[in-house]
Amino acid sequence: SKKAGKAKGKQSNLRTPIVVVMGHVDHGKTTLLDKIRGTAVAKGEAGLITQHIGATEVPLDVVQDFCGSHFGKEIEIPGLLFIDTPGHHAFTSMRSRGGSLADLAVLIVDVNEGFQPQTIESLSILKRFKTPFVVAANKMDRIGGWHTTTNAPFAKSLKVQSERVSEILDTRLYELVGELYKYGFDADRYDRITDFTRTVGIVPISAITGEGVPDLLMILVGLAQRFLKDNLQLTATGPGVGTILEVKEEKGLGTTLDVILYNGEFFAGDTVIVGTSREPLVTKIRALLKPKPLAEIRSEERFLPVKHVSAASGVKVSAPKLDNALAGSTIRVVSNPDEVEALSLELKSELDAVRIDTENE
Ligand code: GDP
Repeated sequence: SKKAGKAKGKQSNLRTPIVVVMGHVDHGKTTLLDKIRGTAVAKGEAGLITQHIGATEVPLDVVQDFCGSHFGKEIEIPGLLFIDTPGHHAFTSMRSRGGSLADLAVLIVDVNEGFQPQTIESLSILKRFKTPFVVAANKMDRIGGWHTTTNAPFAKSLKVQSERVSEILDTRLYELVGELYKYGFDADRYDRITDFTRTVGIVPISAITGEGVPDLLMILVGLAQRFLKDNLQLTATGPGVGTILEVKEEKGLGTTLDVILYNGEFFAGDTVIVGTSREPLVTKIRALLKPKPLAEIRSEERFLPVKHVSAASGVKVSAPKLDNALAGSTIRVVSNPDEVEALSLELKSELDAVRIDTENE
């Protein structure tokens, strides 16, 4: 079978950018992720879909297929990796070296409700971490009299709306532009923007009907390529660094870590240093586990051992002594025993930074 890593490796050495979806409760984070996941599964060729722990990878081919258009040669990223756990708490605790885990974000806002407290919180987090983002103006299908064209690009979807519906949508979008302006962001409907480095794009979507979702994916790919090229190029290979999403007890495996590897590679057998509530812990990766493909999920074991993973990737790490590992902290490969002391200090200062941030919120 064709390995996704190999298939995309030829294209370039850029790693997959990591995308988070943020926004107020009930504004549609889960629904959007379900839509994207569903698209990836339905449209993907079996060999190209990689299963992840805690994340969904949408290869570039799938995005192109869904959008019905082709990217030019300038697009070198292999696809997009969406973190499956929506919500900002996970996001704030996921930080590394003054940055954040996410390379890009989608700020989702119910277009009928506008800004709500968690929208504003999300926005301030994005501002603090300087994370490039797009705004998804969701639930446009709820505007009275809306005509649905399932999974259609926005322009096609807009064509069949009455003048009244288009006007309502425009008014609501301008309200969002106004809100964003209040918080220091220039924004406009994405198809009226020429310079995405200065203006935040607003993409009208419906996470339920899929309308506008092709546009959203296209914009994310474009943004990733534009903003992140330098950043991404640095992090394709070398000693792995990841963020611990969850510390989980698994039957037959003991305590395991669900990790988003955002930099470099993990090999089974690697020595790693892991953040805990006390002293950082040095241990050895016993096994790297990926979810079993859906077709095989009936068997007892839900996970498939792999020898190697490279960034960006969601993976379960099994190793001895993980009981005190801390969600939100870092797991890092130790390539040389001499590094342990320095890495340990670094990890502790990262944890202190996270602690201070959390206390301030
Ligand atoms: P979350 O809390 O941000 O994850 O929000 P959910 O994804 O759980 O969505 C909250 C509710 O809004 C659910 O009942 C969804 O079915 C509904 N919903 C989400 N997106 C849309 C949309 O685009 N259109 C409509 N009509 N309903 C939506």
